[in-house]
Amino acid sequence: MKMVRFGPAGNSDSFTAMGFKKTAQIPEYVHKMGLNAYEYQCGRGVRISTESANELGRLAKEYGIQLSLHAPYYISMSSIEEEKRLNSIQYILQSARAAHDMGAERIIVHSGSCSKISREEALALAIDTMKLAVKALDDNGYSHIRICPETMGKVNQLGTLDEVLELCKVDERLIPCIDFGHLNARTFGGLKSYKDFAAIFDQMENKLGSSRMKEFHSHFSKIEYTQKGGEKAHLTFSDTLFGPNFEPVADLIVRKNCSPIIICESAGTQAEDAYAMKEMYEKAIENQCKRQTTEE
Ligand SMILES: [Zn+2]
Repeated sequence: MKMVRFGPAGNSDSFTAMGFKKTAQIPEYVHKMGLNAYEYQCGRGVRISTESANELGRLAKEYGIQLSLHAPYYISMSSIEEEKRLNSIQYILQSARAAHDMGAERIIVHSGSCSKISREEALALAIDTMKLAVKALDDNGYSHIRICPETMGKVNQLGTLDEVLELCKVDERLIPCIDFGHLNARTFGGLKSYKDFAAIFDQMENKLGSSRMKEFHSHFSKIEYTQKGGEKAHLTFSDTLFGPNFEPVADLIVRKNCSPIIICESAGTQAEDAYAMKEMYEKAIENQCKRQTTEE
């Protein structure tokens, strides 16, 4: 059986509180926190040197930690300006190079805004940019790096579940990054019942097939939202007001035999909350075993 992995997006406050300082110490920290994934943050630009990336990758491997990389936030695959779309391909290429250097396989990308044009036009532009980005990766020897377009939290951003799945259809290597907190924020609390969560898994499976559904990438955090724009701020698991809850996701991962990478983006407690999700997942496995024994 393939493994489900849990880890933080960047470092929790506890990283420095525990006396850690350097990038090379991240794998030891993640391991100490009981986790086995880590998303390296390049939101403000890809600045890590080949040497540091190699060292991080070597240590991550030693500790059994799977790395992924968050590409720059200023990528805009749907920009109405051609120059910005072409620059975005270069940023994706830079991200792929850094990911390759650290032994990461997945780069997570925001596809852009759709505030100036219709959603359909924005999606068409983003699909075109995605095709060029995949080609650029192939042409530069990064065919093994998988771009993961992310579901976004603000209403005027491209990145509904449907839009992300459409982008993933460009190439069979593309994987959706399902940010459940974002989907909940942009639908003003639409993820409540088990059925709401199950529908996401069903849509992934219907549109991309079962093997890609099973290996999806995920961001998870509780997110404050407003009734107008959607996402407002990332919270921690101590939030009881905005949600969403992870338990239904854990249950669906077990029932559908998925092996995703789940990255926690809580504000400051992302490693601690990632561990809490790992425990919820283990509980879901126990529940499955109980169900099977009563059925026998
Ligand atoms: Zn993101």
